[in-house]
Amino acid sequence: MGTIKTQAIVLRYADYRENDRMLTLLSPVYGRIDAIARGCKRPKSPLLAASEWFAQGEYVLYVSGGHVTVTSCLLQESFYPIRQDYERLENATYLLSLCEASAQPGQASLGLFKLITRSLLRLAYKDLDPRAVTSAFLLFTCALEGYLPVLDRCVRCQKPMPAQPRYAFDIEGGGLVCPSCQRMEDRLLHLTERNVAWIRDVLKEGVEMTEMPPDDAPLHLLMDYTEAKLECHPPAGKMIR
Ligand SMILES: [Zn+2]
Repeated sequence: MGTIKTQAIVLRYADYRENDRMLTLLSPVYGRIDAIARGCKRPKSPLLAASEWFAQGEYVLYVSGGHVTVTSCLLQESFYPIRQDYERLENATYLLSLCEASAQPGQASLGLFKLITRSLLRLAYKDLDPRAVTSAFLLFTCALEGYLPVLDRCVRCQKPMPAQPRYAFDIEGGGLVCPSCQRMEDRLLHLTERNVAWIRDVLKEGVEMTEMPPDDAPLHLLMDYTEAKLECHPPAGKMIR
């Protein structure tokens, strides 16, 4: 109850009445917050820039009777260059949808907040392949949620995984499956040796430091895996496949 001040980023908005918007915010302290920005669509509203996709700053929120109202915002970043490149915009939109699915109201989300902020900075300002940025975001989101893919052993028999050119990946089990544990009825995905090397290197060095080429990023597998674990299938995902 009362007024709270928090860092936050706009994950989504829905237009509401003539001049208002309902914002979905991600706060490192309070998790996902639905907050109304009254009058933000009026041209001279001080909340105009703070009520756009990707807006990030220090939000002052008034909480009363289960409703949250944006009182003011000190805007710090708008990630503007993302809007000038269609591929980057699609990837960034997809990442916001995953944040919305992953974050819970009232649950601190510092790790996710840092991850989305860094990923959007990369999409906006760094000369990195957007598909690699998205793949890394998916990988680290899985790690934060406790679903880091198991790559060093078979998720069924637990024996160390022998090196091979192509690996089978079990979404439900969350990792690789050795040839002797594979069953006819399995619907397994596949990873190449290069895909596995990309995951290992990005976990160790980060997506900015890795020397693995972006084409080795297993984007589709990481999308399928993360979406299954978060139980969400954002429409924006279809655009980047
Ligand atoms: Zn096995």
